[in-house]
Amino acid sequence: MTREYALGYYEQKRELVDIKEERPEYQEIASHVLQDVILRLKRAYDDFFRRVHNGEQPGYPRFQGRNRYDSFTYPDGAGWKLDAAARPAAKKGIVRVNLKLSKIGTVKLHLHRDIAGTIKTLTIKREGEHFYAIFTCEIGKPDPFPTSHEDVGIDLGVSHYAALSNGEFIDHPRYFRKAEKKLAAAQQALSRKKRGSRRRKKAVQRVATCHRKIANQRKDFQHKASRKLVNQYQVIVFEDLRVKNLTKAPAAKQDENGKYLPNGASAKAGLNKSILDAGWSTLTAMVSVKAAWAGRTVVFVNPFLTSQLCSGCGAVVKKDLSERWHSCSCGIELDRDTNSAKLILNLGYQQLSVGTRPTSATA
Ligand SMILES: [Zn+2]
Repeated sequence: MTREYALGYYEQKRELVDIKEERPEYQEIASHVLQDVILRLKRAYDDFFRRVHNGEQPGYPRFQGRNRYDSFTYPDGAGWKLDAAARPAAKKGIVRVNLKLSKIGTVKLHLHRDIAGTIKTLTIKREGEHFYAIFTCEIGKPDPFPTSHEDVGIDLGVSHYAALSNGEFIDHPRYFRKAEKKLAAAQQALSRKKRGSRRRKKAVQRVATCHRKIANQRKDFQHKASRKLVNQYQVIVFEDLRVKNLTKAPAAKQDENGKYLPNGASAKAGLNKSILDAGWSTLTAMVSVKAAWAGRTVVFVNPFLTSQLCSGCGAVVKKDLSERWHSCSCGIELDRDTNSAKLILNLGYQQLSVGTRPTSATA
């Protein structure tokens, strides 16, 4: 018997029937869930080959063992059912419903909000010891927001999470650092536990809990910040983060005698931590999605020189990373990040080719 080596998505899907016969344990899994596993594999390979094609260097899709497999998906309405009878749970704003999962049974679900629109897929996900049911739904497009006459340029920075071109700041939430300290302690405790021990298992759990808390706090912060921006501004201009790439190590600097000068490396090292905290690309993605729904415009500009030019006169005003103030001979005095944000807004206007717009509507 010859065997086909290049198996595609559809062949694999067809083979499921035989696999189930050969390996009865697979009969305990809902068939649509199994099909989705093949779809995930297909997506992983599609992404891999797309990135290879684009000249990137992606990692080869790896086998997802049981420790890495934290979710499964019902790709359509089959294999599960939501019980219509909902009862309020003890916690405010949460209702309890029964969710029937094929081959698994009925589980109790705490519904944190109403499910709007038509449910397309259901994913059951585990995070540490918490299980989640994630419904993806299709909803009609809502009406765009009334036009705002305020625009904003945003500098995603170090001393502030974000500086806005109107002089306002969005600050780093303090609780990130606090949670980070807790995480560091939990990780250290974990490193002291013996492999395979019960205490180690518990320590792993605690680390996972910390990670989960940080991730949730971050997401909550990003959702609130992006919502506020989209509610308030019509045109929102960001730097293109792929170009910005702050995480790169700065080059060493020497003076004329060969002595090494401070190059801001320590400032940047401290900054990397903040970047990890900051999750700017998630923020810009959230703003983009919310803006699309609200009828707002989001622009990404090349941040080249935005930290060095004067937003007032366009002159180059060189600054080290440690210099927090922009002071120009044209008389402009600004926080350096505010100055950058103003430049970013102007670049955004250039890109939109609308010139500088009036801040209030004119008939
Ligand atoms: Zn100037």
